[in-house]
Amino acid sequence: MAFRMLKQTLLFDSNKYLIEGDRPILVDTGTGFKVEQAIAELKELLDGRELQTIVLTHRHFDHVGGAKAIADAFSAEVMMAPRDSQVVRDGDSEATLGTDFGGKIEPIEVTDLKEGQILSTGLHDMEVIYSPGHSAGSIALYDRKNRALISGDTVFVGGIGRYDTPSASLQELVSSLRKLSELEIEALYPGHGPAVDARGSEHIRNGLRMLGETI
Ligand SMILES: [Zn+2]
Repeated sequence: MAFRMLKQTLLFDSNKYLIEGDRPILVDTGTGFKVEQAIAELKELLDGRELQTIVLTHRHFDHVGGAKAIADAFSAEVMMAPRDSQVVRDGDSEATLGTDFGGKIEPIEVTDLKEGQILSTGLHDMEVIYSPGHSAGSIALYDRKNRALISGDTVFVGGIGRYDTPSASLQELVSSLRKLSELEIEALYPGHGPAVDARGSEHIRNGLRMLGETI
């Protein structure tokens, strides 16, 4: 596996991935309800290296709730796509679904990510791919060289993200799955559930089929 999945502390927390290298990147932070465990695990994994960057795949509380505490603990920069960043910057617990999870988020500084921007850890070059649908500002991160995709909640192993929350769009989800289906993907690291290290593209095509699309 190219990326390390942190321990799951709560059933409904998002997956949290550490992309290895001299400048490791953390992708998603869980709800933050047991964030001290994640911080302790990160300290161990980082083994003296700095955590400079946290990327959030989208606005939902189960992915962003822990961001402030982790960013503060490591003095890390938080980055996400513009269509989702403002509600996180504002600490909007409604628009991030915090209230649905029984939680609250605090305002936090967020840097906007651009489509096609490359984030490098020194070991992995991760390309930012806008993939709206599950939420307006959902992104995926693609390691072209290793054919590995971190997909957020756009697509799972055996499923697709919901598209019935505010800012979601079925039409955009279909377009995003089409866009991702053009990439060569072996390893697929979704926002929830298991990751796989082969045939990731099949899960994207299956996602399109689930929505009644022809491939
Ligand atoms: Zn989500």
